[in-house]
Amino acid sequence: MPSTDIGIDLGTASILVYVRGKGVVLKEPSVVAFDRDNNKIKAIGEEARLMLGRTPGNVVAIRPLRKGVISDYTVTEKMLKYFIQKAIGRMSFRKPRISVCVPSSVTEVEKKAVEDATYQAGAREVFLIDEPLAAAIGAGIDISRPCGNMIVDIGGGTCDVAVISLDGIVVSSSVKVAGDDFDDAIIKYVRKKHNLLIGERTAEDIKINIGTAVERPEQKVMEVKGRDLITGLPKTVRVTSEETREALKEATSQIVDVVHSVLERTPPELAADVVDRGIVLTGGGALLGGLEELIEAKTGINTVTAEDPMAAVAIGTGKFVELTASNGKLEN
Ligand code: ADP
Ligand code: MG
Repeated sequence: MPSTDIGIDLGTASILVYVRGKGVVLKEPSVVAFDRDNNKIKAIGEEARLMLGRTPGNVVAIRPLRKGVISDYTVTEKMLKYFIQKAIGRMSFRKPRISVCVPSSVTEVEKKAVEDATYQAGAREVFLIDEPLAAAIGAGIDISRPCGNMIVDIGGGTCDVAVISLDGIVVSSSVKVAGDDFDDAIIKYVRKKHNLLIGERTAEDIKINIGTAVERPEQKVMEVKGRDLITGLPKTVRVTSEETREALKEATSQIVDVVHSVLERTPPELAADVVDRGIVLTGGGALLGGLEELIEAKTGINTVTAEDPMAAVAIGTGKFVELTASNGKLEN
């Protein structure tokens, strides 16, 4: 009987597990909560996320992959094991083949660490996959053709831009500005403009509900609760979508700049393909209102968001094994 094939997107904000034939079976935040006193893990994933910013002194909730760098290897390893076990359960008796997609900024040493952790977690074979390739496959692009495609993946910690052709990355660049920085920018803005202190989760809510990267004729408004910096008491203010645009201006223009820099370095034939075929956005950050319009306006190239942008990398990572397996490359 064939063993399970699993694809894991080890993202800075979320971890997704794709199982061949089943699709994405698990999606949880990359958060681990542990007890500082005895270094024991208290919770992983969604349960741990709820503890972020709300833990008593001895319990700390951390995001071990924040900014695309593995800040804590042991924690990452435990988190990986936990998710792999949760996703495959006790059902399978043959060890799975696991492909993992790591953030592009991860170093060779860190990649090796992820590979080891995945073997430790019970993999029969491990494949590490380049994120832009996985994102492109997941977005439904046939990457094997000799034709340039541009992928812009905007996650929590990093924005990765790549031009892909013939199963490879031709030009790429990455900037550590993405969804988390949108939240930070909103926190700073609300503090300055309204003298109101808000937390990361409130900022993310604002971004998701009314955030926009472009000017809109109609305004969205949201009531936001926080702590008044002057009186120290709880206060509610009204924040508008136009205010979010102002708050996010710097971060979104850094993303536009990295897209430009990759376009400038793209060989002419492939650049012409990108102009014909457009730019494809993936990652949860791509869901920010108006981001595709902003990139389209600033580059003059048609820009679309992948169908399920947050799942694209996981789907592509899982399919990568299917694709290469069907080519006979991975038979054993
Ligand atoms: P990573 O690959 O780094 O794990 P994801 O692709 O999961 O990141 O994207 C996570 C980011 O997407 C977070 O910053 C989150 O706030 C943001 N996000 C999720 N949904 C939305 C939305 N509807 N609008 C704007 N941002 C969103
Ligand atoms: Mg990602």
